[in-house]
Amino acid sequence: MGRESLFGPDRICAVVAAPTAKEMARQLRRALRLTRTVELRLDWLKGKREIVRLLSWLRVHRPRATLIATCRCRSAGGKFSGGVAEQLAVLMTAVAAGCTWCDVELETAQRLRPGGLRSMLGRGRGLISWHDFGRTPANLRAVLNKLERCRGGAIKVATQCNSIRESLRVQALARGRRNVVAVPMGEIGLPARVLALRQGSALAYAPVEQATAPGQVSLEEMKQLYRADELDRRTRVYGVIGNPVSHSLSPLLHNTGFIARRMNAVYLPFLVRDLRDFLDAVRPLGIAGFSVTLPHKQAILRHLDGCDPLAEAIGAVNTVVVRGGGKLYGYNTDYVGVLRALERRVALRGSRVLIFGAGGAARAAAFALAQGGALVAVLARSEAKARGLARAVGGEVIERGRLRREFFDAIVNATPVGMFPQVRRSPLRAEELNCRLVMDLIYRPMKTELLRRAAQRGIETVSGVEMFLAQGIAQWEIWSGLRAPETAMRSAVLAALRREERLRGAA
Ligand code: NAP
Repeated sequence: MGRESLFGPDRICAVVAAPTAKEMARQLRRALRLTRTVELRLDWLKGKREIVRLLSWLRVHRPRATLIATCRCRSAGGKFSGGVAEQLAVLMTAVAAGCTWCDVELETAQRLRPGGLRSMLGRGRGLISWHDFGRTPANLRAVLNKLERCRGGAIKVATQCNSIRESLRVQALARGRRNVVAVPMGEIGLPARVLALRQGSALAYAPVEQATAPGQVSLEEMKQLYRADELDRRTRVYGVIGNPVSHSLSPLLHNTGFIARRMNAVYLPFLVRDLRDFLDAVRPLGIAGFSVTLPHKQAILRHLDGCDPLAEAIGAVNTVVVRGGGKLYGYNTDYVGVLRALERRVALRGSRVLIFGAGGAARAAAFALAQGGALVAVLARSEAKARGLARAVGGEVIERGRLRREFFDAIVNATPVGMFPQVRRSPLRAEELNCRLVMDLIYRPMKTELLRRAAQRGIETVSGVEMFLAQGIAQWEIWSGLRAPETAMRSAVLAALRREERLRGAA
């Protein structure tokens, strides 16, 4: 539990939203396991009867929590179809049923005479809110002033952020204030949303089940993965930059490590469309290091102050350390990932390894294997690219037609063929697998069609998840200077991937 706010001891506010009172009550009970501050989206209930039902239930059960009643009109982005008078009547009933706060949108508050809202809500306090689901306006101060003129107990600004810079502007509204709730919306705004409490926002919203605004983080993640209410000025901030990035398992991997080692550090997913926009936020957010994924692995090189020579030779950086004065230093741990995943199973020195593909991951794999003493053979659909990579690592180019006749100690797939959703595809045919071991760099699914074919021929297999874990663990150790809690990190990622596969199987 973090520092107390105007809303009580819990600053993470669970959002409960469902079409029926029964479902809302179930979500409320679930929310109370993690927080005692809960927003009830009464406008999500289908019809007046369900609203009455839920409020009667509240009157009887009186949960020990700070309840915020919201009955947002359609014109302000909610689902309530009634007029202002009906909306206010619902909110007054909610106060009688035990809600201590009412979220009243600016559009409604402005229609009341000065002091009208206060007398209407009685014991209830007004959280005057303003939303823009399309953009973040240039003049946020003007919005703040309008909200303050309504004289509620607190004010809330929620705007769609189309750049990281915008999300920092929204977050800054709460600095040094007790009564401001700042909500940067949208996927780009997610890191600022998680860090908002640290910046002084009185609340951070997180849905129990149903997202009610774009870019929301679930209650469990907000509380248990990001620990948003425990972050403070000393928290070291890390993250992954990419586009897309929402599917990334890196936040789970790294935060699990920080939690296991009880470190005051957090790792966030940054959706980055424009590298400059992110790099400008490194200093204001106090970012201490970040992972780099597609499409920025090559482009980031131009912005570095220094780079590990091997990463430079590979031509890609997936790990950046922010040193004193904001200087950026790049590494490539994909390289380490391939090496660690393979060297346990194959004596690399003097071995012959085929790499299929000649893109970024193939380059990291080729350099790793050559460094480990293997003779690297490259097969790619573009012969020129295969030749370029083979030359860079002193290896050979192999034509596809020769595969049936050649033997390798290991074959590594570094193409995306077979990756979810095209899980039935394989980059190579069974009879082309003349080797002792097959490694697929793909980890969604964990067992690809290629690995299945290899296993059927009695060939040892290695999933890309091994590389994913090893590259991430190497990053974690570079940043922290500590031994990573590998078992905890590994179990968290494997459990998440298994859960994903079960859900896909059920769909
Ligand atoms: P990339 O830079 O885009 O390279 C992809 C390579 O695959 C290129 O050589 C491309 O050929 C080739 N390719 C694409 N489609 C093909 C097809 N249908 N048939 C034959 N070749 C094809 O991507 P990357 O970053 O190297 O990633 C490659 C794979 O590795 C992805 O599945 C990625 O998820 C995986 N990966 C895993 C990890 C991990 O931690 N496990 C880390 C990084 C990457 P062209 O150049 O001719 O297009």
